[in-house]
Amino acid sequence: MNILRTQGLVIKDINVGEADKIITIFTRRNGKIQASARGVKRPRSKLIAGTQFLCYSDFVLYRGKDLYRVSQSEVIENFYNIRNSIEKLSYATYFVELASEVIDEGYINNKLLKLLLNTLYVLSTTDRDPRLLKVIYELRLMSTIGYAPNLIACTSCGNIEQAKYFSSIIGGLVCDKCLRNIKSRNNIMLSAGALHTMRYILYSKLNKIFSFEVSPKVQEELDFIAKDFLLTHIDKEFKTLKYLENLLSIKNMDSKSHQ
Ligand SMILES: [Zn+2]
Repeated sequence: MNILRTQGLVIKDINVGEADKIITIFTRRNGKIQASARGVKRPRSKLIAGTQFLCYSDFVLYRGKDLYRVSQSEVIENFYNIRNSIEKLSYATYFVELASEVIDEGYINNKLLKLLLNTLYVLSTTDRDPRLLKVIYELRLMSTIGYAPNLIACTSCGNIEQAKYFSSIIGGLVCDKCLRNIKSRNNIMLSAGALHTMRYILYSKLNKIFSFEVSPKVQEELDFIAKDFLLTHIDKEFKTLKYLENLLSIKNMDSKSHQ
């Protein structure tokens, strides 16, 4: 029988019948895979903890005909604090859906797995603004799947000095002249702060990218650019993003009505 020993993050779990679950795991050794966890909902199952949504665990899996079967699982990190906050959990669920969308079954992308794990870790253990984490994660994710935006010179003509605008559809900076030929209305003029921050996010080492803060104005620019860039190139509606945005707009209304 074929055995796979790997670490992996549970990115989806579906209940099957009364006692079983089918989980999707983003693994180090085999990329995204599906596995059945039999009897996991029985009270004394040894698989309960390690197969929960958002658990990063050590797995021993048997390869079955269609699915793997979880034989053993041991928790390495369960991102406990994320589960205690609806807001954090909503961000985490979106991060995970996004990763799941851009990797195909069996496709290894350990850079993305590492980025996702680091982002979840910062979300879980610190009070860093999750809006900033979202932008960092989105931009860095695009880069790991081959869509790094050009932040050096005009993407159309190569002009370095006049490249002050950002165009998602062109894939990076554009200059005044080239801007006139772009039909999309979503091109925006970048502030120096936003450009500097984007360069930092994309060109720094992974362990450095969570250690800075931005002004509210730069945050707003980055919110717009990261989302527009991502949705331009990954043409999909993310349910978890809609949910997150609804949640945040309710939170906003609440905080305004208390002022
Ligand atoms: Zn140009």
